[in-house]
Amino acid sequence: MVQTPDTYEVKTTCAYCGVGCGIVAQVEGGEITSVRGDESHPANYGRLCSKGMSLHETLGEENRLLFPKIDGKRASWDKALDSIADKFSSVIAEHGPEAVAFYVSGQCLTEDYYVANKLMKGYIGAANIDTNSRLCMSSSVVGHKRAFGSDTVPGCYEDLELADLVILVGSNMAWCHPVLYQRILAAKDKRPEMKLVVIDPRETASCDMADLHLPIKSGSDVALFQGLFKALQDAGCVDTDFVESHTKNFADSVDFSDVYTLDRVCAETGLGAQVLQSFYDLVIDNPKTVSVYSQGVNQAVDGADKVSAIINTHLLTGRIGKPGCGPFSVTGQPNAMGGREVGGLAGQLASHFDLFRPEDRDLVQSFWNAPAMASEGGLRAVDLFEAIHTGKVKAVWIIATNPVVSMPDADRVKAALEKCELVVVSDIYENTDTVKCADIVLPATGWGEKDGTVTNSERCISRQRAIVPPPGEARHDWQAICGVATRMGWGEAFGFETPADIFAEYASLCALDNGGTRDLDLAGLCGLDQEAYDGLAPVQWPIDKNGRSRARLFADGQFFTPDGKARFVVPASKYMKTHTEYPFVMNTGRIRDQWHTMTRTGRAARLFQHMAEPFVDIHPDDARVADIYEADIVEIKSAQGRILVRAQLSARQPRGTIFVPMHWSDAYTAKGRVGALIVPDVDAFSGQPAFKSTRVSVARYQTAWHGFALSAESFKADIGVEYWARARVKNGHQVELAGAETCTDWRQFAQALYGGPCEESVLDVLEYEEAAQQVFRTAYFQNNKLVFALFIDQYPLEISRGWTVEQFEKSHEGMQRYKLLAGRPGGDMPDKGAIICACLGVGVNDICGAIKQGADSLNLVGKSTGAGTNCGSCRSDIQRLLQGTYYAKTG
Ligand code: SF4
Repeated sequence: MVQTPDTYEVKTTCAYCGVGCGIVAQVEGGEITSVRGDESHPANYGRLCSKGMSLHETLGEENRLLFPKIDGKRASWDKALDSIADKFSSVIAEHGPEAVAFYVSGQCLTEDYYVANKLMKGYIGAANIDTNSRLCMSSSVVGHKRAFGSDTVPGCYEDLELADLVILVGSNMAWCHPVLYQRILAAKDKRPEMKLVVIDPRETASCDMADLHLPIKSGSDVALFQGLFKALQDAGCVDTDFVESHTKNFADSVDFSDVYTLDRVCAETGLGAQVLQSFYDLVIDNPKTVSVYSQGVNQAVDGADKVSAIINTHLLTGRIGKPGCGPFSVTGQPNAMGGREVGGLAGQLASHFDLFRPEDRDLVQSFWNAPAMASEGGLRAVDLFEAIHTGKVKAVWIIATNPVVSMPDADRVKAALEKCELVVVSDIYENTDTVKCADIVLPATGWGEKDGTVTNSERCISRQRAIVPPPGEARHDWQAICGVATRMGWGEAFGFETPADIFAEYASLCALDNGGTRDLDLAGLCGLDQEAYDGLAPVQWPIDKNGRSRARLFADGQFFTPDGKARFVVPASKYMKTHTEYPFVMNTGRIRDQWHTMTRTGRAARLFQHMAEPFVDIHPDDARVADIYEADIVEIKSAQGRILVRAQLSARQPRGTIFVPMHWSDAYTAKGRVGALIVPDVDAFSGQPAFKSTRVSVARYQTAWHGFALSAESFKADIGVEYWARARVKNGHQVELAGAETCTDWRQFAQALYGGPCEESVLDVLEYEEAAQQVFRTAYFQNNKLVFALFIDQYPLEISRGWTVEQFEKSHEGMQRYKLLAGRPGGDMPDKGAIICACLGVGVNDICGAIKQGADSLNLVGKSTGAGTNCGSCRSDIQRLLQGTYYAKTG
């Protein structure tokens, strides 16, 4: 692209997952008009997934917070910051520093995170700062620290390509870290002998390209890896030199694993002996093995022990720190790793100093010139919100996260915030579920406006650059934090003027008294001036004073424990008990095209094409027993609450278990906020909630009617029926509806839902009704353009959503209009069906058509339709279509 003052490109980083892809953003006339993958970024080499590709579509001022508010009224920044500082100071004076808290986020940049930690742990003098990364990977942090003495990811992404065997444990990488998954598949394409194993109770999209899937019972990972530990010993795979010279506690692990015979592991995991032995043989035969794990491992009451069980197998075999092998934790968020670096969790200190070591606290205190250093761990996320509920914490500042949706027992979190004396929320949008609970709201900068650094899952620090100016009065989080710190009397320590100033202090703290004793060494980045910071290229830590970076650690057998030796940790296997009132185990997680609580991805129509409403995956046999049919509305209850979601029958879901996506909030659905069901059980070591194993009951929700509506304008906030789920579509909005009571006047219902003037002078209205059958259809046209349509039936509607949405773009004249009421095209018109490839808008019918014409491979389908040729996230869906195992909902 030609660079002019008006038209130029900026290199930055994706705002979503922990892969941390590099992006090139194109700017025209002051707006980010498109994005593409950065060919030079070592995380993605030019690839992006559907979420990254849509980043520019999530921007714009709709629902943006443009100025601070106090009690719902516009306020100046000075007034808002004064109010926060006054209240925090008075609470601290009266109740002590533990009575205030920060709850921050893996969305924060490292510079934001750093000043928040410095303020809480060095100046307020408590460690009550925790992050939503607690929900994501804190069990991995514990596992790393127990084994290595430091929170170190030993390897790098290249290891996943160099490995002969990649094991995905509790990771649906095809959907959750798509670009990294595509890198594995590309390596496998080049070396077909490379093997991919997926360990997951569900048959996820990641299984479609795998050589072996182990559908273990939920929660039996420890038994599986203890069995592997024993099998590796029995097969003579122990690296005796490495174990003797560089590890401790081996004998304890051997004693513990001895009981994990093949029979016992089969019994505990539910696997057959043959498939289990095949897995063992693959690991035995492939020294170049990488074990990748994420939320399926971490989000459990024994998450830290699962991590230890995985790491133990790598210590046993010496398969760590060398090209193509090692345990590898992938983080969920764009800067979860950066948060860990600056001490974002309540038990950490900045720059990988240890909060629980007096010498470390002294060093940091003197570096910061801090008046009141925290000396013990603070409240972890679940405990923090409980302390708010009980009144122990009286003032909280929530930054860049939406805990009313994402926390376990989310209704209790909401109730806690509603009664807290002061809730400050920094966000970019005014309509999140958490902002609605705030006393003071601060408008923050978002992606494309923020300026700083992030660190991805392979320890690579990248710049996220400001591309366009912030809207309204939005400010960076670090500016708001420093503003409050200054008003609390600590202006000198928080007088940063730029993110580069903050990074310089952070890098110096990392280098302080380091000399190789701490893994996180940024000596080579100390003293960067503004120009060098602006131009900083992606770089992996540690970086020594000569600027040398290391892709891998521990190949030399040197760990960060006091004696330099790694530790085997004996895990304790825990089992879930059955429960008659709540007979199902509910697993939660991400879907391919949405991110967290949808505050950003919910703004991109393209990202709703894949899945547009909250659903439950349930095995057909379980559904039959519960009298649940495809597309029914299902009521799911736990001890904490209830939700309503759409049934999706899937033989890929193990019996006795269900899966519900984590994304839907009160802003997008009437009752699909799954956090309200989650029991707040946590791992005792990490405090990470067990999002994968809530006990629930499921039942068909008795509906009298189902509906689907389209509108060129957005629907009102409260739709007023028992079930609704809204989504943005191209040129408008859609909503799925269902109700328990029969309606007697659908015309009036339609007019109320439309919400605008319905006079005949303004609109042409078509209508069709079979009242006895609860069938009603109507469409409103203005100047031959469709502006509203409603379809009602007593059964789930079998209309083509994709085709009806396309009708917004068309001119509708004469009798042609009546075709719309059918809700699907006639035989003479093409219907794409449900969209599979979000990047290029290719539907299931297009792909099936190509397959019928002889396209019998991914490449041929790609050549014929384009599907799967851009980001690749849909390739597993296409593979299932090729195999005849794909199920797609109508439209
Ligand atoms: Fe963003 Fe997708 Fe890359 Fe993750 S894989 S960083 S969501 S583009």
